[in-house]
Amino acid sequence: MDQGRTTASRTCQPYHRLWPGRIPWISLLLVGGVLTWLVPAAVTAAGSRTLVVILGTGSPVPDPDRSGPSLAIVVGGNSYLVDCGVGCVRRAVAAFQKKGIEALRDSNLKVCFITHLHSDHTLGYPDLMLTPWDRRSGALRVYGPPGTSAMTENILRAYAADIQVRTKGLQGSSVDTVTPEVHEIASGVIFKDGSVTVTAFPVTHGTFPNSFGFKFVSPDRTVVISGDTAASDAIVEQARGADVLIHEVYSMEKYARVPPQTRQYLRAFHTSTEELAVIANKARPKLLVPIHKLGHAGLSAGAIKRELRKAGYTGRVADSHDLDIY
Ligand SMILES: [Zn+2]
Ligand SMILES: [Zn+2]
Repeated sequence: MDQGRTTASRTCQPYHRLWPGRIPWISLLLVGGVLTWLVPAAVTAAGSRTLVVILGTGSPVPDPDRSGPSLAIVVGGNSYLVDCGVGCVRRAVAAFQKKGIEALRDSNLKVCFITHLHSDHTLGYPDLMLTPWDRRSGALRVYGPPGTSAMTENILRAYAADIQVRTKGLQGSSVDTVTPEVHEIASGVIFKDGSVTVTAFPVTHGTFPNSFGFKFVSPDRTVVISGDTAASDAIVEQARGADVLIHEVYSMEKYARVPPQTRQYLRAFHTSTEELAVIANKARPKLLVPIHKLGHAGLSAGAIKRELRKAGYTGRVADSHDLDIY
């Protein structure tokens, strides 16, 4: 926790000092276990189905075919991003242009949940802030772990020259729509509107502090996202009977080839195909979607799925790719 956080909101001083008197404050709320109604009730089209759109199935290892970790839950006309790995905005626009998902037009990327602040999950955050800036109405709302506010302030400071030119010059950009409304989260229900209720739960991601998984409940579906995590019973509890479980994974075939220290790291920070098979067999989601496939590069197509089967998982499992829709 930040030192001195004694109230629910405070000024983001570093950015505010750049343009005194002109910059609205970033709202910083600590929400944990308390329902928050932070947006107007969204309109959910009657009969519309909740969609999971995978924007990036990649891991920190760059792969042109797999963007950084990011996905979208789409309910009616609303989209809710989970993580903002590199390429998230372009993948979202691809989903709009190629799949006809209007809610993923860049101007409609208005809400983002961040599982943890590892760089592979946040490299697209400046992109999300700055690329749709002039087409977005209102502030981007971001729900992330402690430290999200500081990251936001520092990104704004890093792009101070760009922001100054765009707001002071001929482009006429509004500072209001580049400055995110940041909500730092704790466990519990962190968001609720007319389309979804989002619950955050802690996961164990090695020594990385404040890592969360998320559970989205919409009128027609329950979707659980593991975030980055070692094998955890928390996932089993949250995902029991869920419609979709989206879970990170690493390949045991690759694990067998790496040195002992890397193995130690993988066991502490991530979940193997063998472990995920056990988790999924206990939770019995209607569909398992493996993402964040560490060690996937160089493996043959469908390798992760085959490893899950070999480890005894008998339920439905997707061989996920960017822009898949479930
Ligand atoms: Zn991570
Ligand atoms: Zn990661």
